[in-house]
Amino acid sequence: MPQKFVIFDRDGTLIEHIHYLADPALVRFKADLVPALTALGKAGFAFGIVTNQSMIGRGLATQEEVDAVNQLVIDFLRQHQIVIRFFYVCPHIPEVHCRCRKPEIELGLCAISNFDLSPSLSYMIGDQESDILFGKNLGCTPIQVSGNAKQSQFAEYYASSLSDAAGWVLEQVKG
Ligand SMILES: [Zn+2]
Repeated sequence: MPQKFVIFDRDGTLIEHIHYLADPALVRFKADLVPALTALGKAGFAFGIVTNQSMIGRGLATQEEVDAVNQLVIDFLRQHQIVIRFFYVCPHIPEVHCRCRKPEIELGLCAISNFDLSPSLSYMIGDQESDILFGKNLGCTPIQVSGNAKQSQFAEYYASSLSDAAGWVLEQVKG
């Protein structure tokens, strides 16, 4: 059965943006992360994360270091009964023009085929223009959280925080 998802960006969205984050000890979760995702989960949304990590391709971090940061995010959320169904990483630098770096939608197509994600029922929440275009091109409703990039003209909603974004999603679902 097609499943409604909220797909999240990682850096600047679920956790604070830190340049070249390769150490789990440096992770700082957004203050409203748990309540925002708990509310969305109660409304029947499943969760996935899609992240661009070109620092792997640049040789500034190993896949293992990035995996360790991602695992910390997964474990932290699981402690709060929040399950991340998929966590997809593009390790490439932009210059190689891969198919998996947002705004390319390859990793979203993986979620559709592997998890029966329904784009029309799903939302993409991120802080960067690439997140918004990824969501839009995948057929999801894109929401931008303010902070690290200028406002995208393609975002359906520009949120002041993760909680604000979650609240807007819940309003849409309520109809
Ligand atoms: Zn890639």
